[in-house]
Amino acid sequence: MSVMEQSWEKNIRKCVPYVAGEQPEKAKMIKLNTNECPYPPAPGVKKAEEEMNLGNLRLYPDQNVTSLVNALAEYYHVNPKQVFVGVGSDDVLATSFLTFFNSDKPILFPDVTYSFYDVWANLYRIPFKTCPLDEEWKIVAEDYKQPNGGVIFPNPNAPTGVFEPLEKVEEIIKANADSVVIVDEAYVDFGGESALPLVEKYDNLLVVQTFSKSRSMAGLRIGFCIGSEKLIKYLNDVKFSINSYTMNRPALALGVEAVKDDAYFKMVTGKIIATRERVKKELAELGFTFPDSKTNFIFASHKTVPAKEIFEALREQDIYVRHWNKPRIDNSLRITIGTDEEMDVLISFLKKYLAGK
Ligand SMILES: *Cc1c(COP(=O)(O)O)cnc(C)c1O
Repeated sequence: MSVMEQSWEKNIRKCVPYVAGEQPEKAKMIKLNTNECPYPPAPGVKKAEEEMNLGNLRLYPDQNVTSLVNALAEYYHVNPKQVFVGVGSDDVLATSFLTFFNSDKPILFPDVTYSFYDVWANLYRIPFKTCPLDEEWKIVAEDYKQPNGGVIFPNPNAPTGVFEPLEKVEEIIKANADSVVIVDEAYVDFGGESALPLVEKYDNLLVVQTFSKSRSMAGLRIGFCIGSEKLIKYLNDVKFSINSYTMNRPALALGVEAVKDDAYFKMVTGKIIATRERVKKELAELGFTFPDSKTNFIFASHKTVPAKEIFEALREQDIYVRHWNKPRIDNSLRITIGTDEEMDVLISFLKKYLAGK
């Protein structure tokens, strides 16, 4: 064990990763090192590959995801060694659970939160303890000051939409110098404030983000995280112990294009924020209550009509919102912010439906 090891490093899964063959990208090369096929894919595939500039599908992709890591590092002003990219942030989170949550003590997360956390904890046999949100759906920082094997929470939280100020996030990180703290920022681009600046101060903080919500690319599967070089190295060791080539060439090519176009990104997120703000007013006028959302959804309860009834009525109209039969949240609906036209259809249906109640 190195003398440089920090206290939070004790309970990390450490492994010696598989070493994949070299993947050079030379225009002229004789590549006989990783058993790829020398002939092009089927003509239809080849056509798409050329027209869409997806890269050479015959060859393995870059196992280090260099192009996308560099694009993200530049965009977020960090060192490329601080960036890890995965197949959606679910992949980044699952790999992080496996890597960082490796202690006998329970990991901590909110009782009402992203419903994948307990699934991964159970899968990997990680003990966990949930900390109840308060009556306003807020995280209670004190709850995260007990012995633990790691901490994870989304900010803003899902499905509540509640954003926690960075002072509270930092208070939680400060109290947990002995474990890894993961902040899942799937929705941060819709008006929250990222914990990224804190990465420079705390080498046990991992900030996870995704292309699925604010970058309109759920179908491509790209997620990433930013943390200290040490954390990223531990993650890569685990990744390279499971699957070296996680990111396919089309995802890399299209992901880089998405990061390059900041104006489009700001335009889309700005539009969703504007739609969300007016839908808040309309829902309130219809008798809904909800915690203030800084995400692309609103977590709403109606003051008289049960959520499940509204959910089913909407479903009959082919309008799909999310409802959970779970304690604390079974009278709420999570309504994603769509286009203005989609939200108009939803609101006008609700108006009619609730008037008849
Ligand atoms: C949507 C979501 C994710 C996963 O998104 P990916 O599509 O896998 O990137 C992770 N965390 C939270 C809180 C989410 O809502």
